[in-house]
Amino acid sequence: MAQILVLGAGIAGMPAAYALKSQLGPKDDVTVVSDQDHFHFVPSNPWVAMGWRKRPDISIPLAPCLDARGIRFIGSGVQALQPEKNQVLLDNGETLSYDYLLIATGVEGNFDEMPGIARHAHSVLNIGQAENTHAAYEAFLKNPGPLVVGAMQGSSILGPVYEFAFMADADLKRRHLRDRVPITLITPEPWPGHLGLGAKNKSQEAFAAALANSNIKVLSNARTLSVEANTVSIAEVDASGREKQPQTIPFSFAVYWPAFRGIPAVRAASTLVNQQGLIEVDEFLRSPSHPNIFAAGICIAREIVDQTPLAVGTPSSVYSIQKEVNTVVANILAQMHGKPLASNTPQRAHWLSDMGKNGAAYLSEPHVPLRDINWLKQGRWVHIAKGEFERYFINKITHKA
Ligand SMILES: Cc1cc2nc3c(=O)[nH]c(=O)nc-3n(C[C@H](O)[C@H](O)[C@H](O)COP(=O)(O)OP(=O)(O)OC[C@H]3O[C@@H](n4cnc5c(N)ncnc54)[C@H](O)[C@@H]3O)c2cc1C
Repeated sequence: MAQILVLGAGIAGMPAAYALKSQLGPKDDVTVVSDQDHFHFVPSNPWVAMGWRKRPDISIPLAPCLDARGIRFIGSGVQALQPEKNQVLLDNGETLSYDYLLIATGVEGNFDEMPGIARHAHSVLNIGQAENTHAAYEAFLKNPGPLVVGAMQGSSILGPVYEFAFMADADLKRRHLRDRVPITLITPEPWPGHLGLGAKNKSQEAFAAALANSNIKVLSNARTLSVEANTVSIAEVDASGREKQPQTIPFSFAVYWPAFRGIPAVRAASTLVNQQGLIEVDEFLRSPSHPNIFAAGICIAREIVDQTPLAVGTPSSVYSIQKEVNTVVANILAQMHGKPLASNTPQRAHWLSDMGKNGAAYLSEPHVPLRDINWLKQGRWVHIAKGEFERYFINKITHKA
């Protein structure tokens, strides 16, 4: 009988736990540990911040879903990993032993790098932040002024940064406030729509046109120097990374995207992680130092795809994470039964970006021979498809097949 422990009950952890339980033998135990007692559909956080979704729309209680599938659930944060002992310590004082560990604890924003973000701007990385951002947005609507949407150098998953700017544009137009709110997007990308993927072609043209149509000013190659009350200081850099004259951008409301790092317990497990506390894995999504530890989701350390003057991280998406989940589940089973493991094929980007009343769908697939497929289409159907995808994923977590 094997003990499989899954840490984290998000986009990676829940589907992985379901698949493990259904494919393992009846005597094998699967336990899920999460600091939250609900699953949250993170991609809808920007909608929560806009007030287009409420917490209950995108949250599901974990215990009944896991219980119905014979999976044990422990609602406690992870305090420390002890890979040498095959044990995990929890905030509730329990110590859990495992034969196989799957880490899927996501990330946290590295606000220490730029404390002004937490003090003077808003974020949407988790549902609590998104709700606070919405409360601040409502207050801002009573006395509107310049709005800044920014991303730190070294940040990744920048699609939602654009989404937020486009959604704010659409929302403010609906409220007849747009002419009182200049919107500025500040990004470390060398050009808008780079997204950590490069491949300068269709996405650059389409993003530039969409931003211009929405009258959103963009500062790219922009290093954020500080975030103060009502101002952001930035310096654009040239192709060699040399800083130009610093500029100060005023704001009445700012949403900022910090760089990511692992959650504290994962960060502290020095034999498993890189400098940012993100988990190092091999081609099998397995820790090189501890072969019974696997990882899936945005807690994984990813190689930079395209070297840029300012660092831009490689994105993950729900789609690419589901591919990782399939690989990890197959490899845990293979390892248990002494069979060969399968390599994970990185799926760089399949994404639906909401733009308020329409949206942009893109596909970037650098692993297809003859270099990239780069495809981008815009239209109202993307806005609708994104809502349908949210419903599909939530149903997948809620209902037993
Ligand atoms: C704001 C935002 C918008 C995004 N939008 C999209 C999108 O539109 N499309 C797309 O394809 N991708 C999107 N992504 C990227 C990606 O799909 C999501 O980040 C996704 O949630 C990552 O899944 P995950 O399982 O790695 O992390 P999460 O879904 O965040 O799950 C992490 C889990 O770990 C738990 N946890 C955290 N700390 C602890 C602890 N100490 N102990 C125990 N458990 C813990 C959490 O409670 C949670 O259950 C977005 C990301 C963000 C941040």
